[in-house]
Amino acid sequence: MAIKVKSKRSAPARPRSVVTGAAGFLGSHLTDYLLAKGHRVVGIDNLVTGSISNIEHLAGNQDFRFIQQDVTEFLFLDGPVDYVWHFASPASPIDYAQLPIQTLKVGSLGTHKALGLAKEKGARFLLTSTSEIYGDPLVHPQKEDYWGNVNTIGPRGCYDESKRFAEAITMAYHRQHGLQTRIVRIFNTYGPRMRLKDGRVVPAFVSQALRNKPITVFGEGKQTRSFCYCSDLIEGIYRLMMSDYHLPVNIGNPHEMTVLEFAKEIIKGTGSKSKIAYQPLPQDDPKQRKPDITLARTLLKWEPKVALADGLVRTIEYFRQKV
Ligand code: UDP
Repeated sequence: MAIKVKSKRSAPARPRSVVTGAAGFLGSHLTDYLLAKGHRVVGIDNLVTGSISNIEHLAGNQDFRFIQQDVTEFLFLDGPVDYVWHFASPASPIDYAQLPIQTLKVGSLGTHKALGLAKEKGARFLLTSTSEIYGDPLVHPQKEDYWGNVNTIGPRGCYDESKRFAEAITMAYHRQHGLQTRIVRIFNTYGPRMRLKDGRVVPAFVSQALRNKPITVFGEGKQTRSFCYCSDLIEGIYRLMMSDYHLPVNIGNPHEMTVLEFAKEIIKGTGSKSKIAYQPLPQDDPKQRKPDITLARTLLKWEPKVALADGLVRTIEYFRQKV
């Protein structure tokens, strides 16, 4: 007679994620998002541009472990890993100017090490690439099949070329090792936890406006950008990781505006007395940028939800405590 053994249903295994750049602006938002989804997270950061203050609320969280390390060094980690999210990199023009070699190294050697970790663990790998790989684009809006217009030796070359290399090595690991890889091209993103002095337009304008100082518009302010709120971006990136698509996908907000229009929005949003102060346009500053997100819309059923005015309220609130 067969004996029926009542099997005790085991709890589903919880995924384990590694986030490089976990103390950075976007890396820390991703970490929060993954923990909320039930992942265990190992965050790695060398704190060159990241800040412990972005993750200090996670102190004591059993599901989070922080390792202070440069991801260009060999990454050793015990235990299984399901997902590697490679977010580490300086990401503002001022940072590239001050840290050009670190910028090149993290995009090249750091991506190599993060891919190596994913291969060793049989994990899925996601690269955060950038709209900068399109350079000063001659095609507008930018679609994923546009190859770009990059000045290799200009001030942005260290970032643009390191990310172009990162895309190439990610595809090589996919083709040669059969690694499951994802590539997101991130367009301008903003929100709480950006560094006050990182030089990018959102922290620059918001902090100037909050202090009633002149708003430094570069050039005539006719260059365009489109700004995505951080929570929208993280949702899109998560969906991409969970999809089965290995080619690059743009994630960003297609709501395009000039930098001058943006400055006026900030003055309005902060109720500031600031006036516009025009300054020289930096070399190779892209004249226009707007993502074509048709692919993300169809493939991931994703599109941004947070309107600029709402995202700015949350961002301004954050910066009010910092200035
Ligand atoms: N910008 C500006 N004033 C500033 C900082 C930036 O006018 O104080 C402009 C910059 O020239 C660019 C746009 O704002 O055209 C976005 O700059 P950011 O550094 O945020 O990022 P980018 O999109 O150029 O990588």
